[in-house]
Parts: sequence; C-alpha cells; structure tokens
Amino acid sequence: MSTEFNGDSKIRCRYCGQLNKLAGGKGEATCGRCRLPLSDEPHKKFANLKAETYIHPYDVQALKTLKMIPGIDSILKKLLEVTHEAYMRVLFNANSVKVGPDQYPDLDAKLDVVCCTLGVAKPDLYVSVTNPFGGGGLGFNAFTGGVEKPFIVVFAPLIERLTDQEVFAVLGHEVGHIHAQHLLYKVAAELLMFLTHTALGFSPLAAVATLITMPIQMALLNWYHKAELSCDRAGLLVTQDPSVIVSTMMKLAGGNLTSKVNYEAFIDQARQFQKNYEEKWLDKIWTMIAAGGMSHPFPVWRVSEILEWVDEGGYKKVMDEQD
Ligand SMILES: [Zn+2]
Ligand SMILES: [Zn+2]
Repeated sequence: MSTEFNGDSKIRCRYCGQLNKLAGGKGEATCGRCRLPLSDEPHKKFANLKAETYIHPYDVQALKTLKMIPGIDSILKKLLEVTHEAYMRVLFNANSVKVGPDQYPDLDAKLDVVCCTLGVAKPDLYVSVTNPFGGGGLGFNAFTGGVEKPFIVVFAPLIERLTDQEVFAVLGHEVGHIHAQHLLYKVAAELLMFLTHTALGFSPLAAVATLITMPIQMALLNWYHKAELSCDRAGLLVTQDPSVIVSTMMKLAGGNLTSKVNYEAFIDQARQFQKNYEEKWLDKIWTMIAAGGMSHPFPVWRVSEILEWVDEGGYKKVMDEQD
C-alpha cells in the first residue's frame, strides 16, 4: 500500500503527521521522521479501542482456565515480588541502547504512532544486541516486560532483517500486550520459563518456584502462547495491512533467505495449515508447545490465524465499528 509521487510537492505522513517535502524522481517515498511509506490512504487511530473486540477466543478460553486455579493471582504476585521488575529493567538498561528522539529516532517515531493508534501510554523502548536471558534464536525477536511500568526490548538482528513496516508491525504486537493487559501473567510465564533453565540453589526464588505446581505451569504457558494470537491482531490493527503481518511472520519462519521464499506459496501453506489439523489435534500441539517452553508459537500457525480473522470479517468489524 504505497504510492509513487513525482514532482515537487508536500505530503503529510498518515502515520506520524510529519509534513514531508517530496523531491522529484520516481520510487517509493518514505516519511523523513518515521520512515514508513508515504501514501494518501488514511491511517486510523483508535480513540477508545476495547481489547475484548480483538482478543482471540483461544486466549479468552486459556485465561479462563488459568484464573480458575485457586489462589493463582497471589501465587504469581509472590513470584513477581521476589523477582522485582526493577531488576529486569536494570538488566536491560545495562545491556541495551535506550531509544529516544536522539537515539534511533525513527524507531521512537514508530513507537509514538503505535501507542497513538492503540491508545496506550508510551513505554520505554530498548534495542539490545544480546539477550540477557539467553533465549537465543529468532523466536526471541522482541520482548515486553514490566508489570508496574512496562518496557519493550527489540533485538538488533530483528531490526536488521525487517523492513520499516515490519518493525512497525512487531512494535504493534508488543504494545498489544500492554493494551490487552497481559503483563501480570505474561511476565510470570516468562519468569517461569527462565526458572526452568536456571539452577536456583538456595535463592529466594527456589522457595517460590515450588509453589508453581505442574498444573499452574501448564495453564500459564498454554495461555502465554495463545495470547500471542491476540497481539498479532493488535499488530494488524496498527499496520492496517495484512500483507505486512504475513511478510513479518514469513521472515521469522524462513530466516534470512527471504529472497528465495515465495510469498504466495507461504500464504497457501498457512491457509492449508488449519484444514489439515482437527481441533483436538491442535489442542495437543498447543500442549506440546507449552511443554517445550517455546517463546512464540509457530509463525505459519500465527499467519493462518490472522488470515482467518481477516477472511471471517473480524478485522474489518473492529476497523469499522471501533472509534
Ligand atoms: Zn511519518
Ligand atoms: Zn508477543
């Protein structure tokens, strides 16, 4: 959804509002501030978007199951108390570059647009080369933490591999976690995955970890993965272009070799995905994903879910009916 502009004229960026002067010459023009493509198509900003309108039904169901566990909130709060979120913040602050108007200004501008679109207070944003939690791999591409004061970390390889619009989509997904109020359970699930890979010894965490029984772990991780589907929808509500979500996922699935990956074939693969698996099988796979401690569910699956939401009219309904 980009437009070519020729000749000398001015155009206001539909995303960030910057007035851009267009020099002559052909080619795709991008905004000088947020670096997103210039176009005369409108970009909707929601004044009062309700999370219930886009939350994926799997997320709703899994959260219901999780909340049915007696005492779950107090157990998770205990877990978060001993791993005070300031610690995580310090860890990232010491390892990362903090984004602002003078540091990665285009990322800062994109974050402004995302927050303005979803109606969320702007969190701190960091760019990090290393992941202090050692997650590794492309799965760990971006991260939202903090319950009291949320912050987002984007890992540098992601920015290097994705286009500006795709980075915008990833930020939309991450801010979606804040908008959908996922953070208490999300941070708890991430701590839990971290704990399962860490020798706790006699640390205060060890005592709390024993409270997190297997049923709690399974319910928490099961919800954690399904919540991703809701945030992919938030990412779509921000980019307002399904093809950007698909190409982002394609890169996450296919790694660097994007020039050799066929976009249409990938969409076909995603559309076929759900048809090939019956519901009860899908549920078993979800359980395996949770048990395996993956940070994000399979990208092909996520694409198939987002395409279905578009095809069924769910996306259009939110765009048309929410102010
Ligand atoms: Zn702009
Ligand atoms: Zn996520």
